Amino acid sequence: MALIKCNECGKTVSDKARVCPNCGAPTNIGLNTYAVAGFILSLISIFIHLVSFIAVYMSAKGFDQIKITNEKGKGLAITGVVISILYIFVFMYNFYIYNFYIL
Ligand SMILES: [Zn+2]
Repeated sequence: MALIKCNECGKTVSDKARVCPNCGAPTNIGLNTYAVAGFILSLISIFIHLVSFIAVYMSAKGFDQIKITNEKGKGLAITGVVISILYIFVFMYNFYIYNFYIL
């Protein structure tokens, strides 16, 4: 658990608090970085299937963080997980069928 600064009143607030206990302003309203990165990587994995392994990790990490921090980007994280799992299967299928690495 870390302490962050309230955007409104400037007092220190727990990063797990959804609102500032002092002024009531919502905290952590930014986009989760891992969710954004995971989503972008999942789109890249459509063309380079190997990237899907990193994309699923980043998206899942983003999703876990959002559950705690209440940041934005839950939809991105879920979409990232779905797309990257799909392309992990495509990668595995190609590997199984052709028995060698194909992007
Ligand atoms: Zn405040």
